[in-house]
Amino acid sequence: MPPGDLKSGVAIVTVGLLEIQGAFLEHRVALQKAARLLSKPIDLHLVEVRTAEQLRPEMDALIIPGGESTTISIYLKRNSMEEPLRHWVQNPDHVTWGTCAGMILLSKLTENQKQGGQSSLAVMDIDVSRNYFGRQVQSFEADVRMSDSSLNKAFKKDTFQDTFPGVFIRAPAILELLSDDVKVLATVSDPNTGAEVIVAAQQDNMISTAFHPELSEDCAWHVYFLEQIVNKKAT
Ligand code: GLN
Repeated sequence: MPPGDLKSGVAIVTVGLLEIQGAFLEHRVALQKAARLLSKPIDLHLVEVRTAEQLRPEMDALIIPGGESTTISIYLKRNSMEEPLRHWVQNPDHVTWGTCAGMILLSKLTENQKQGGQSSLAVMDIDVSRNYFGRQVQSFEADVRMSDSSLNKAFKKDTFQDTFPGVFIRAPAILELLSDDVKVLATVSDPNTGAEVIVAAQQDNMISTAFHPELSEDCAWHVYFLEQIVNKKAT
């Protein structure tokens, strides 16, 4: 870790939030709460990102929040942010987390696009379907099942937990992993069909969740995200 990243032995962690539209304020609150639950203290800085200049290379991580992927992608295009953002996310020193619309924006393939098509950053090897759970169930809460044992640490509080209360709002789902580099982090039982569908995945430094962890009381996903950053800075 470079010496500038340490303040009296405490790691300085800078997380940007793409504050164009959607649920970014809730992420701020959850991150502050999660920072206090880490095993080692960190000095957490949260910064807004609305312009290409604000995508500073020294920022450690970025959250692309839920909202509306079409609106966010139009904004990115109009403000010449698409390419700088893609470039920033692809830097292996950076960690990026896309929630809901953010997952769609990270995906290489998007099914059920808006009429006329929509662009994405196309950086994560996943095929997602927008509004997968349909109109009749636009919003629901369900326990998501964690599929990866490395998550256990973040999700272990007083008792071991392998489920998380997921909030799904016109949520996408992952239909297919497009490479072996992607690992499934969580699944949920589709309330329409009962089939188990993939709703969270990770590919190296990119995490995607179809639901909104920032809207749940439990901030385990934010703990997991911060742990990824701290681990990366330590190597
Ligand atoms: N269905 C929305 C989209 O296409 C995502 C909804 C959300 O982020 N809550 O962007």
